[in-house]
Amino acid sequence: MKGNSDMQWQQLKQQDEQCYMNTFGTRLPFVPVKGKGCRLFDAEGNQKVDFLGGIAVNVLGYGDEGMAKTLYRQAKELLHVSNLFYTLPQEKLAGLLFAQTGLKCFFCNSGAEANEGAFKLARKYFYNKKEPRYEIISAINSFHGRTLATVAATGQEKYQRPYAPLPAGFSQVPYGSLAALRRAITPHTAAILLETIQGEGGVIMGGRSYLRGVEKLCRENGILFILDEIQTGMGRTGKLFSYQHYGLSPDIITSAKGLAGGVPIGAVLAKPEVAAAFAPGDHGTTFGGNPLACAAACYCLETLLRRGLEGRASRMGRLLKKGLRQLAERHPTIIDVRGRGLLVGAELKHAVSGKDFTARLLELGYIVNCTGHNTLRFAPPLVVMRKDIEGLLTAMDTALTEQEALKSAHEY
Ligand SMILES: *Cc1c(COP(=O)(O)O)cnc(C)c1O
Repeated sequence: MKGNSDMQWQQLKQQDEQCYMNTFGTRLPFVPVKGKGCRLFDAEGNQKVDFLGGIAVNVLGYGDEGMAKTLYRQAKELLHVSNLFYTLPQEKLAGLLFAQTGLKCFFCNSGAEANEGAFKLARKYFYNKKEPRYEIISAINSFHGRTLATVAATGQEKYQRPYAPLPAGFSQVPYGSLAALRRAITPHTAAILLETIQGEGGVIMGGRSYLRGVEKLCRENGILFILDEIQTGMGRTGKLFSYQHYGLSPDIITSAKGLAGGVPIGAVLAKPEVAAAFAPGDHGTTFGGNPLACAAACYCLETLLRRGLEGRASRMGRLLKKGLRQLAERHPTIIDVRGRGLLVGAELKHAVSGKDFTARLLELGYIVNCTGHNTLRFAPPLVVMRKDIEGLLTAMDTALTEQEALKSAHEY
């Protein structure tokens, strides 16, 4: 980075240090001021190709004209009126999601809030049945959000430790083990909450037989099956929601991230008989499902379906994985490649600094992050093009070659 852009970054960093809580540390050394498709530009026109997509949010890419028009039109007509009223965009979005899933919805503003809503719904469901079931079992290495209850459900000690005491009624078991789940179920278990692919946890795949086994376990024990589709939803894995790959029938799913392609929104979706547990006054929100966010989500969902972007995610994801596997054959630094559709992980040797590696990729013009156990995560907009993938693979090849040269220099 150089010149004016570097100065702008320094100024913003100073402002951030003075005025913003230090939750995000030093941000990336690139200040995006606009975007188009998969590309971000700074004020001087330097560009980066974004393989993180605003953390699996920007499904339609940057600068989508139709989205901009939708937002402008809706903002002129009606931004917000509260949930005291029926509004056209909210009912339209509810209808679109119902047509795709057969599930009833509740809209909120974020992923964590969607999971909170799901926990409340599960508890209310058993409260109505007069069954003393309130516990939620989730997985170690999961990620469900940053509120107190979602931190309690998130099986990562580093997020939990400073915030004790956390809300009661949450426990975690190793991901992928049916036996561990079976042992953890008690007469107080209300629900099992899982991701089909652990995203923040490092793109760890649940797999068909595990997920189907979990659903069966839920049925046998009269407990609810909740899938957190916040990262895996909206076409990313090759279907609108990832449970649709496995013939699953979850009682509740949660959505957010890509649901409105970058406008904040979350959703709890539940089978009608489960959704019926909420009566007027049991749950609510001021902003959730407001006309602006719902108009954006309708546009996003309709565009995704019309353009078949979930199919595109499958095809582009296969291309990306194939390319990464070819790199792995030549570069021992990559020890595993996995994922589904455009949620892909490449695990690096644990001796290599994933953080340094992604910093180098950024210098080479590609935005990627590192999650879980040293795993590069790729979650680009679903409109990503073949040439972007080829460019990324070339940059990866360069960075891997450098990395390995460095390592052999140390060895001698
Ligand atoms: C990002 C994420 C969340 C939290 O969403 P926020 O909008 O940041 O609250 C929850 N679950 C999963 C699987 C996620 O990827």
